[in-house]
Amino acid sequence: MAAARILFVEDEASISDPFSRALAREGFEPTVARTAREALALAERAQFDLVLLDLNLPDGDGRDVARDLRRHSDMPIVMLTARGTETDKIVGLELGADDYVVKPFSGAEVIARIRAVLRRSQGRQGLDTPTPSEPAAIGALRVDFGARQVTLGGAPVDLSRKEFDLLSELVRSAGKVVSREDLMSRVWDENWFGSTKTLDTHIGWLRRKLGDDTADPRYLHTVRGVGFRFSAPEEIQP
Ligand code: CA
Repeated sequence: MAAARILFVEDEASISDPFSRALAREGFEPTVARTAREALALAERAQFDLVLLDLNLPDGDGRDVARDLRRHSDMPIVMLTARGTETDKIVGLELGADDYVVKPFSGAEVIARIRAVLRRSQGRQGLDTPTPSEPAAIGALRVDFGARQVTLGGAPVDLSRKEFDLLSELVRSAGKVVSREDLMSRVWDENWFGSTKTLDTHIGWLRRKLGDDTADPRYLHTVRGVGFRFSAPEEIQP
């Protein structure tokens, strides 16, 4: 297997030098960017398997970099943050980061996280093929699982990776209630114990993109105290 290419965005040489050596020793292929600008330029020029992204950069905020990267790429993002508050963690995940590590971190810890995130993202790509990838049609909505494309009334709906994963989980169980815990573990992390605020945020975004009215939803129903339910095809008149 080819070495996973890691884009390591970190301005502090005292962190990036030893840690990129550690990454190389562990069989990864690291490329260091010292500024937000450099990171975006590198990401445009080359393919990376994962981005390790510092939150505080000399020319900007790592969160803006994450947002920019997400606009045209699905590659996993692991955020490095010195701020350990719950809010920052959630903000990182809402931007589409796959995981975060609070500084100071141990090299072994970050490498374990990188491996887990890569495994998940490769598993996700692998999983989409063997499962029945017949597109699902519910009302005006069409979800093509294989191509990861969604249309509403024939018009493409632009979803982030997490939004698509969340929609897929709900649509695959259309007509049935899916618990918050199941959604968190399937879409975010198999060992999720934290807040599920990020789930509600993504549900809100998904509703907006589906043009769903929260008070009287056509597609995405909240089941109080349990989770969410996506309408079955027969519930919606074409
Ligand atoms: Ca920094």
